[in-house]
Amino acid sequence: MNAPDPLAPLLRELGPDIVSTDAGLRQRRAGDWSGAPKAVPPAILRPRSTDEVSRCLALCHRLGLAVVPQGGMTGLAGGGNPAPGQIVLSLDRLAGIEELDREAATLTVKAGTPLQVAQEAAQEAGLYLGLDIGSRGSCQIGGNLATNAGGNRVIRYGMARAMVLGLEVVLADGTVITALDKAMKNNTGYDLKQLFIGAEGTLGVITRAVLRLHPLPRSRTTAFLSATGFEAGLRLLRRLQSELGGVSAFEVMWPDFYDYVVGHPDTGVAPLPKGQPFYVLTEYEGNDAAADGGRVEAALAGALEAGDVTDAVIAKTEKEARDFWIVREGLALERLPHLVNYDVSLAIGRIGEFAGRCRDALAKRWPEGLSTFYGHIGDGNLHISASAGAAAGNVEHEMDEIVYGIVGDMAGSISAEHGIGILKRPYLSRSRSPAEIELMRRIKAAFDPKGILNPGKVI
Ligand SMILES: Cc1cc2nc3c(=O)[nH]c(=O)nc-3n(C[C@H](O)[C@H](O)[C@H](O)COP(=O)(O)OP(=O)(O)OC[C@H]3O[C@@H](n4cnc5c(N)ncnc54)[C@H](O)[C@@H]3O)c2cc1C
Repeated sequence: MNAPDPLAPLLRELGPDIVSTDAGLRQRRAGDWSGAPKAVPPAILRPRSTDEVSRCLALCHRLGLAVVPQGGMTGLAGGGNPAPGQIVLSLDRLAGIEELDREAATLTVKAGTPLQVAQEAAQEAGLYLGLDIGSRGSCQIGGNLATNAGGNRVIRYGMARAMVLGLEVVLADGTVITALDKAMKNNTGYDLKQLFIGAEGTLGVITRAVLRLHPLPRSRTTAFLSATGFEAGLRLLRRLQSELGGVSAFEVMWPDFYDYVVGHPDTGVAPLPKGQPFYVLTEYEGNDAAADGGRVEAALAGALEAGDVTDAVIAKTEKEARDFWIVREGLALERLPHLVNYDVSLAIGRIGEFAGRCRDALAKRWPEGLSTFYGHIGDGNLHISASAGAAAGNVEHEMDEIVYGIVGDMAGSISAEHGIGILKRPYLSRSRSPAEIELMRRIKAAFDPKGILNPGKVI
């Protein structure tokens, strides 16, 4: 006897406008940007409203069908990748700005709204959304919140979680929870919205959010510097924070990263000579366009005098600032054979030691390889892009064991901002205790007793 066809009841009860079986669309929805296992889903559910999301989930719940929520599919952990046979629920048609409240400084958006659209809507009103990541044109607010995205301005504005005042979600059985608060204060029991933020679509589907906005900065000063080492870089960060009252970005690069990246034509002009012990890209956003540049220069002059900084260049145009960021984005790394990327976090003071231990361990095991280190150290976040070399082939599992072993030893986290998804699930216990994992399982069972929402992800 043939297995029952899940498409027939979906099509019958939801209709072909919501249930798409288009081959091209299904192909595009097979997997995200990560190298995690992919599968072409049998159908894509494309609701246009919260009520339609609720109908989709209630039906899948009744039929016992696994559903994978998908946003812009820019994820780097495979969280949105369906396993064979799993239905996808795409938020792409549930998009748009609902309201910009100037008095409350809030933006109410539908989950499928691309991040860049939300940023531009805030800016047009003279306000500012603190969240910014490289995938801004494609990723969606729902995906940003489901992954608790970090990015370039965490040091000033916090992670995505810090920008959420209110949330609407649909639970696995179709129940709609609408809590679109606009106030910062609401101490009325458990802060339920926080459970869905960073849950990677395993506890509910985010349909709308109220985001907190900030005043639009009037000036931005971007500088690229070389420093005598990690400790000097950290002293520079503390100096800038104390003299300027905070920076909006503080990105660091070790020479293995910088020297490789600026050697490639697609990176453009190298802002500083290669071969220095440490590089920093920093950005200050302020409200006094006439004086802010001078304040940054004075703070950097102090660091040069103290001997922490060896060279510095301040962007004179927006194009020059953009060129600095192109270096930091490190796109040339994609050319490394069998590239493996890591996104870990540690106590800030231990990052230099961690980078040294990791580099040594990887070089000892694969002398022909290259490991590059860079990240947002103000947030304790370090990225590693490593290759064992063309001849070594795919050694991802062995490399994971080495890197996550050191992360575990140094009480760090195996995921700072990209999430667990499928890729890091086998290593969750390196960063979470058995009691924490058991509590996560109990929460999952309480929210989704049939286990239909994004099964096989996170825990
Ligand atoms: C070039 C590039 C740069 C990047 N830079 C950064 C960076 O600096 N910082 C950073 O943190 N990340 C970064 N990322 C990773 C990625 O962009 C983020 O994780 C982003 O938040 C994912 O959003 P998305 O809409 O693409 O989600 P998807 O990839 O579609 O999904 C991600 C997860 O969220 C779930 N999900 C999606 N939408 C919903 C919803 N509405 N309700 C419930 N669950 C949902 C999915 O099931 C999945 O588990 C980058 C990626 C790229 C490609």
